[in-house]
Amino acid sequence: MKRFYSLTIGWFYPDLMSTYGDRGNIIVLQKRLQLRGIKTTIKKISIYDSSEIIKKCDLFFMGGAQDRQQEIVNRDLLKQKGKFLIKAIEKDIPALFICGAYQFMGRYYKTAEGVKLQGLGLFDIYTENPGTYAKRLIGDVIIEPNDSIFKKNKPVFFVGFENHGGRTYLFDQKRAFAKVIKGYGNNGIDKTEGFIYHNAIGTYLHGPILPKNPELTDWLLQKALEIKYKEQISLKKITDFFSESAKKTILRRFSV
Ligand code: GLN
Repeated sequence: MKRFYSLTIGWFYPDLMSTYGDRGNIIVLQKRLQLRGIKTTIKKISIYDSSEIIKKCDLFFMGGAQDRQQEIVNRDLLKQKGKFLIKAIEKDIPALFICGAYQFMGRYYKTAEGVKLQGLGLFDIYTENPGTYAKRLIGDVIIEPNDSIFKKNKPVFFVGFENHGGRTYLFDQKRAFAKVIKGYGNNGIDKTEGFIYHNAIGTYLHGPILPKNPELTDWLLQKALEIKYKEQISLKKITDFFSESAKKTILRRFSV
């Protein structure tokens, strides 16, 4: 990396969509760019902002929320922002959508109260909450990412925490983001976790996911730089002592 690089991260609805520490994902994206001398701009995108802002972003992030906030945000996304977002993702701009945000990317999300929220239809999935009395899917999660994104010569695991009532079903399970090793993942039945489309990832992992899994953070950053600058990028290594030992502790706890 020789020239001067910069990235703009579009953070969707930070005021409404940010449960279980999802804000930590933005902090870690920014920090890992700073450590490499890459200028970072964070653009917060709220329901009051114009959709034009989306065209200026090189990477997108949206955290999770509960059904009430999701209903508000969903209305705004369906107006115009969703169209801009779809266009950007189809041009390979990377994105990370957590839990409630992930559910928006599918065909629809049926809330615990039975309200059917139309999704963007970008991911070939749908989500249904079986009702207010159904068990929520809560706990630590360990997943193994799909080979198509993480070409690896040794096993790679991502760790996180999930808390969702919605069950997500994939029309094609091969497009899952990962395989569940421990936890529930998309629906607690088929061992799939999340979804991947172009360079956009949807996942149920809160935690937040990125500080615990620096490989995933760097994957997103590398893709964002490669798409923006149309060249191969190799990011400077960073010592990840704390995140690696935190991950090892979780893996050991569940004998993985
Ligand atoms: N409301 C959604 C569900 O419970 C999303 C929850 C979340 O983002 N943590 O399925």
